[in-house]
Amino acid sequence: MLTVLQIGAGGVGRVVAHKLCQNRHLFERVVLASRTLSKCEQIATSVKAKGWGELVCEQVNADSVEEVVALIEKYQPKVVLNIALPYQDLTIMQACLQTKTNYLDTANYEHPNVAKFEYKEQWAFDQAYRDAQIFALLGCGFDPGVTNVFCAYAQKHYFDEIYNIDILDCNAGNHPYPFATNFNPEINLREVSAPGRYYENGAWVETKPLEIKQTWAYPEIGERDSYLLYHEELESLVKHIKGLKRIRFFMTFSENYLNHMRCLANVGMLNITPVSVPTTNGGQAEIVPIQVLKQLLPDPASLAGKTTGKTNIGCYIHGNKNKQEKRIYIYNVCDHQKCYEEVGSQAISYTTGVPAVVGAMMICKDIWGGENSKGVFNLEQLNPDPFLEELTKQGLRYDVIER
Ligand code: NDP
Repeated sequence: MLTVLQIGAGGVGRVVAHKLCQNRHLFERVVLASRTLSKCEQIATSVKAKGWGELVCEQVNADSVEEVVALIEKYQPKVVLNIALPYQDLTIMQACLQTKTNYLDTANYEHPNVAKFEYKEQWAFDQAYRDAQIFALLGCGFDPGVTNVFCAYAQKHYFDEIYNIDILDCNAGNHPYPFATNFNPEINLREVSAPGRYYENGAWVETKPLEIKQTWAYPEIGERDSYLLYHEELESLVKHIKGLKRIRFFMTFSENYLNHMRCLANVGMLNITPVSVPTTNGGQAEIVPIQVLKQLLPDPASLAGKTTGKTNIGCYIHGNKNKQEKRIYIYNVCDHQKCYEEVGSQAISYTTGVPAVVGAMMICKDIWGGENSKGVFNLEQLNPDPFLEELTKQGLRYDVIER
């Protein structure tokens, strides 16, 4: 029986579990494990109500290699889908190595006490994964994930040489809350408030947080102010897209979001270092301000159903083909309300969860990670065509505008 083990039952986890169960012909048994068992059970109830069968629910602390190893040994999955947080990447990768099991995640490793993310520690598993004859797929959400595949697809079908890539991420959704993040608040606010960085002419250029603003026109949405951020796919694309001169990442934010974020940063609520606070019984407790903030903000999963509007995420690519300069924009548009109708989620969770399931399909059908590709991979290193074909079937269409 083909089994997949999913770890993490948050906003993205809900989409992954529903889409896995929609595809029972391939994923015969789906095990959903997370820190809080009741969240797994809530998702299992929803899946069952939609007529997509049973989920096996388990409790696990994925910070413990031993607990993840025990779970893998119990169910013998073909792949472990890490849909928990970036903090768990290394422990789950280690557990997969010990049990010789394939691995997939949607975000690269971050240490809880250092606001910095990079692939170094995950790429370091490559030789061990090759020796164990297993496959790891890193960053299989939308960005990173589909954006990496878009670049590989452009290189394969549209360009002889790629000079510049701008990855654009626009969420034009509206919700009734004064301030909310569209995925895990702690991870989101760490990312957005960090210094920006982009790559140009062989070197990384650092900027102050949100220092560079440009206005981009997004199909089906219109013009939006977009801010340069550092984003993890830049690191792997610089390595794997040969001849690249410049790559940047832009994300849209409303003035309201930025005002709230700046205010919270100014008063220290985005800090990740613990502070000591007096407790009601006269003692002292250590708290991490950003974790307190996370508890106070709306759970991103609760935005589902209350968010209207669309997202547009894509890659604007400039290069040449047959000695002619050309530019393309390859992108997806996703509607928040349609995602809610299908799986009870908003579009940010949906656009992350669906690619993770497509990645799992590529692994379970031995299309990616088969005989000749063992080790640790980013998506742009693999054949983009079967992935994009399946992505469209699973609900995320892509379009290409040529200029
Ligand atoms: P949530 O915070 O909603 O969910 C995280 C889930 O992981 C929760 O169920 C949480 O459990 C569980 N979890 C956390 N720590 C542990 C642990 N130690 N052991 C077991 N389970 C644990 O996050 P999201 O669903 O919004 O995001 C999930 C992932 O997707 C993140 O890594 C995020 O960075 C990534 N992401 C990637 C994107 C992309 O395009 N590539 C875009 C958006 C997100 P509990 O309920 O107990 O807290």
